[in-house]
Amino acid sequence: MNRIADVVVVGGGIIGCSVAYYLAKKGVKVIVIEKKKGLSFGASGANQGGCALQLFHPPILELARPSLEIYRNLSQEIGYDVDYENTGSLVCSVDEEQYPDMQKHVEKKRRQGINVQLIEGDRLRELEPTLGGDVVAGVEEQEGGIMNPFKVNYGFAYAARKLGTEFFLSREVKKIERDKNRITSVVTDREKIGTNFVVNAAGAWASQIGKMVGISIPVRPRRGQIIVTERLPLNKRWRYILDADYLTTAFDLAAVEKSEDPRIRLGVAGSYVQENTGNWTIGSSRDFADYTTRVTMQTIRYLAKRAARFMPKLKSVNSIRLFAGLRPFCYVDGLPILSRLNSPRNFVIATGHAGEGVTLAPITGKLISELITEKTTSISIDAFAFSRFKGLN
Ligand SMILES: Cc1cc2nc3c(=O)[nH]c(=O)nc-3n(C[C@H](O)[C@H](O)[C@H](O)COP(=O)(O)OP(=O)(O)OC[C@H]3O[C@@H](n4cnc5c(N)ncnc54)[C@H](O)[C@@H]3O)c2cc1C
Repeated sequence: MNRIADVVVVGGGIIGCSVAYYLAKKGVKVIVIEKKKGLSFGASGANQGGCALQLFHPPILELARPSLEIYRNLSQEIGYDVDYENTGSLVCSVDEEQYPDMQKHVEKKRRQGINVQLIEGDRLRELEPTLGGDVVAGVEEQEGGIMNPFKVNYGFAYAARKLGTEFFLSREVKKIERDKNRITSVVTDREKIGTNFVVNAAGAWASQIGKMVGISIPVRPRRGQIIVTERLPLNKRWRYILDADYLTTAFDLAAVEKSEDPRIRLGVAGSYVQENTGNWTIGSSRDFADYTTRVTMQTIRYLAKRAARFMPKLKSVNSIRLFAGLRPFCYVDGLPILSRLNSPRNFVIATGHAGEGVTLAPITGKLISELITEKTTSISIDAFAFSRFKGLN
């Protein structure tokens, strides 16, 4: 045995590093193992870093709210600026026929205690002159925000490291050894680490780690593609703007698969975030393409065309980068899996955050640290238990 840790975290993404930080804060000796040569090589470095609270439904909403609460002071807490900004969000439509759905969205969100207001097209353009003439209505919410996902990932790692966490980079977990009902060690391509707990935070690769302990974790990669533009002056009112179609493409897989519109079948619905540098990220799409992170011209074309309808000024800007990332998507119900198993009883799963992992990273780390050190959690995570997949295992 080369090394010993209280907890081995598999995966140096935003979830693994948040888990490491909250555990280290409780005095736990953690080793994070990451197969790439640095952090943020998975989905955590290929996303838009946004949290539009109005997009969340229960039970995830119960996690999103406290996570956003943590974000407000996170930079101060960890001593690392994660560029969190309380920008709010606007979900808007270019389709007159979506108007009744937007009214329903407003009623539903108000019932869930989210402060939203429906604003008509001309008033929207008065408030935000960059919005196009096609935009008929929008729903504003002021609690959400944006953050720099790389800085969140590295910030958690920085704070965890200061508290004694070790990061083993360029090491791939190859095998997990157990003694009856308990894991005893994690084997990488370079060493063997004895441990009391293993946290599987391997994102879209989590099912591969599951196989090492003989369980089937129903998570697969759901690709998303993004365009990054050159810098533009900062928008006056909204810097996080979403196409109302997003409510379908992100949350209703059956409707996406049934749709006759090829754009919807590729999961393309606009999500536009303007960073504080002025660059826009134009996302995003949702499809299943195994582990490829290639961008495809058809999807990029749909993204660009759609964006120009919402904000015509984007028509004439240059794109400086295109990229794709792999969301860890639970194909049974789309919900995260936050759970400690009965067998092996020291195996913990923290994955399946799909398109919401940046938002949910702080609360996930906090709750997983409680699950390991206190056995119960300050917020119920029953809805995210692994036991919900009874037929699979
Ligand atoms: C296009 C796109 C846009 C998004 N936009 C948003 C957004 O606006 N807001 C939001 O909240 N979320 C967003 N997300 C979702 C968010 O990015 C993910 O939910 C989150 O990053 C998942 O983090 P993770 O740590 O679980 O996974 P990852 O970041 O993928 O980390 C998993 C890590 O595990 C490592 N690993 C895997 N197998 C092994 C092994 N055997 N040994 C060692 N290491 C291993 C991988 O190399 C990887 O670094 C978006 C995602 C995409 C793709």
